[in-house]
Amino acid sequence: MTQTPQPVRGTQSLIGEDADRFAHVVATFDHVRRLYGFKRIEMPVIEPTAVFARTMGETTDVVSKEMYSFEDRSGDSITLRPEFTAGICRAYLSEGWQRFAPLKVATHGPAFRYERPQKGRFRQFHQLDAEVIGSAEPAADVELLAFGAQLLKKLGLSGVRLKLNTLGDAASRDAWRAQLVEHFSAHRAELSEDSQARLDKNPLRILDSKDARDRPFADSAPPMVLTAEAEDFFGAVKAGLDAAGVAYEIAPHLVRGLDYYRHTAFEFVTDQLGAQGTVIAGGRYDGLIEQLGGPHTPAVGWAAGIERLAMLIDAPDVEHPQVVFIPIGEEAELQCAKILKWVREDGFRADMLYRGNAKKRLSKASADKASIAIIVGEDEIAAGAVSFKFLAAGEQRSVPIHQIIQELEKQFRRDVPKIELPLA
Ligand code: ATP
Ligand code: MG
Repeated sequence: MTQTPQPVRGTQSLIGEDADRFAHVVATFDHVRRLYGFKRIEMPVIEPTAVFARTMGETTDVVSKEMYSFEDRSGDSITLRPEFTAGICRAYLSEGWQRFAPLKVATHGPAFRYERPQKGRFRQFHQLDAEVIGSAEPAADVELLAFGAQLLKKLGLSGVRLKLNTLGDAASRDAWRAQLVEHFSAHRAELSEDSQARLDKNPLRILDSKDARDRPFADSAPPMVLTAEAEDFFGAVKAGLDAAGVAYEIAPHLVRGLDYYRHTAFEFVTDQLGAQGTVIAGGRYDGLIEQLGGPHTPAVGWAAGIERLAMLIDAPDVEHPQVVFIPIGEEAELQCAKILKWVREDGFRADMLYRGNAKKRLSKASADKASIAIIVGEDEIAAGAVSFKFLAAGEQRSVPIHQIIQELEKQFRRDVPKIELPLA
């Protein structure tokens, strides 16, 4: 017997409600990003390994243990993207997107990290991503955060909190780093092995640790003392959020897992997904493009986990067929194929059921939640008509073939715009 291959650990194949949830998150993102004027871009899944290794930080978990990297047939080191930001910055330079600066872009798709799979954590997962590149203004941070908040609202998620912090500028960060080394060194032996290693290489990351042994020391760590300039920037972001009606909590210990962040850092978090509670995360990364060999370019962005959002939303409404054709006999089946083409070209969701007796097919049409079944029999074709059966009411009536479209138009009054009330 041939053995059926099993899926790669940490990957998912979705159908039914799970697939509908995923699609709803993506569609909602695409709707909101257009309201905010973010251009849709498409990005490669594979990049030269250097794109991530140089930007995300050699000592971060993603680069040191989670990347899917391989040598391709010509011996080049290639990595499946673990995130979008670094690849977008690469394109900003290599594709000459600088001419569009300040550039507001959005994209979504798979990302890959070799992590231990669990609820809300996969090896192939999917992100929504939004970036503003070439803008040093705090207004860019505010716009991105408002975009994130509106996306969550449109998805119907309440109970997601925005945690906001600043990582300061280089001067405030260096001073803080020294203070943290002093603080954590006093408890070195009590820290997790990972954090003992971080203490030497990347002490800020201890604050981000999920290990219970590290939490008490992370939580009691001294907060950053900001330079006047960094303080002003953070003040402007907070004032903008207040004006835009975006609620936030200051989280002095929030750091992001990657090295490239400066100034604003934030996470939208929920209590509902355990340790996987971060649904949107991001911040300002003013130094990243320089690390890729480009000119100093301020930028800010966020990424959201599609799977995590999909788990939190209510089951979305799915579209049912408006009309289902039930041909009785071969001649009728050909007629239906012809009519179906018109009906679908006119924009109706239409289906044909061609298996089983008429009664069985009618109950299938009801189970599919169609509104109307159109029964097409030999006698009816001879008379130039079909039978419309209104499945909810159960009533049935004859409609001439040439009037099918008009009748459907009448039944499904379309083109009535759905207007939402303006803000108060
Ligand atoms: P976490 O702290 O949960 O590991 P992260 O800081 O590594 O997240 P980011 O690199 O900021 O995550 O990615 C942005 C978002 O992508 C996360 O907030 C999360 O929603 C999602 N995400 C990250 N890694 C995974 C994964 N392995 N599986 C599913 N979603 C993920
Ligand atoms: Mg992670």
